Amino acid sequence: MSSLYDSAVAHRAADSRGLEPLPSIEAVLFDFSHTLFRLVDAETWLRRVAVAAGREAELDDDVRDKAIGQLVHAYVLPEVTAAQAGRDLAPERHRHGMYEWWRRVDFLKGIESVAYDVIRAADSWVPYSDAEAVLRSLCEQGVKVGIVSDFAWDLGVHLEYWGLDAWVDDVVISYQEGCEKPDPAMFLKACQNLDVDPRAAIMVGDNPTRDGGAAAVGMRTYILPGEPRNDDRGLEHVLGFLAWGL
Ligand SMILES: [Mg+2]
Repeated sequence: MSSLYDSAVAHRAADSRGLEPLPSIEAVLFDFSHTLFRLVDAETWLRRVAVAAGREAELDDDVRDKAIGQLVHAYVLPEVTAAQAGRDLAPERHRHGMYEWWRRVDFLKGIESVAYDVIRAADSWVPYSDAEAVLRSLCEQGVKVGIVSDFAWDLGVHLEYWGLDAWVDDVVISYQEGCEKPDPAMFLKACQNLDVDPRAAIMVGDNPTRDGGAAAVGMRTYILPGEPRNDDRGLEHVLGFLAWGL
């Protein structure tokens, strides 16, 4: 304890470092979903599910709107919410969470496995328009790039599909680690893999509860606004941090 009101931290630097300035940023860690990539919109996803299930003709505007309404309603049901807890700890838990949700939607009931295949498809996750330029710039500046994600499958398939894998040095995914953010182990594993001091890294994400946990391991943390976006994510601000010498 250094004061009665110490911040809650999971990693405390050596006492002598308290008098030293933060080191320059050597690594940037990004969240994946809603930070670097977004899932295609619900209408597109439903249409792809309908095509994959051979039920495209059934999905008129009324059926589509009803399905989206039922998705919204079902997601907040207590039993569905309960099924989402820890869903990114293991693939089968994520699949269970989705099936519990989707089986309450008339159009999806009985074709949950098809819907799941579609959500896992390489092109179902789309990078924000500024992601590639920012990742490329970081690499060209010699800054290490990592992804720390709560996810239930290898998100490398999405990086490779969009040609972004070349700009990412390391990926830490919850289902492979057996823990989810904000568990300090997620952030520390990425720093260890990249051989960088957490004080010389910054975490960029959209979820203050999960991604914000990086602050407790000594990392600077940048939380993006939670607003839904379909194009630019505002990631260029990260380059600004570097330009300012942070
Ligand atoms: Mg996110």
